[in-house]
Amino acid sequence: MLKVNEIYYSIQGESTAAGLPCVFIRLTYCNLRCTYCDTEYAFYDGKDMAISAIINEVKKFECKLVEITGGEPLVQVEECLDLMKQLGDERFKVLIETGGSLPIKDIDQRVKVIMDLKCPSSGMEKKNLYENINYLKPKDELKFVIGNREDYEWTKEIISKYSLDKRCEILCSVVFGKLEPVQLVNWILEDKLNVRFQLQMHKFIWHPETKGV
Ligand code: SF4
Repeated sequence: MLKVNEIYYSIQGESTAAGLPCVFIRLTYCNLRCTYCDTEYAFYDGKDMAISAIINEVKKFECKLVEITGGEPLVQVEECLDLMKQLGDERFKVLIETGGSLPIKDIDQRVKVIMDLKCPSSGMEKKNLYENINYLKPKDELKFVIGNREDYEWTKEIISKYSLDKRCEILCSVVFGKLEPVQLVNWILEDKLNVRFQLQMHKFIWHPETKGV
């Protein structure tokens, strides 16, 4: 059984899959408490569902792209790994969004991992599990959510220290409402940083507080 906060169909708002229709499986619980968290409603609320019931629900949307998110989906690690495997066996293209504080090494190789490294202004920087970098595949994506200049400098340092831009795609976005997108874009261009800037598209399509989109 997995505790599931919501399952819904929308447009993927982030990552290199941004703009594509996608089914989202939001799992309950998170072991982190980022200062800018916009999914606190997923910390505790949810209903218990068997993996077969989750997959049946997903199939109703007739969409082959599925993202597992949270909260932190890897808190329910054993069942979550099993869910990803079974979705892969059913030929779904699976993405998982994880905060980067829990091990990713046992995730099915067919899954695209979109992993955060938490910047200082998140308040969760010390929770980053850097060992995870060794398990990133070329098709995976690494995400930095940047709230100020200190976060940006930190991001540059970490990219350089671990040669991250040679490992996989790097996504940089702003903390919504905290840093102007144009500011981050200017910094990236000034430094010729080899990263992909992204906006949380869903926050511009719908009201930023809207749930289930
Ligand atoms: S990891 Fe994600 S869900 Fe958890 S506190 Fe941070 S932003 Fe919120």
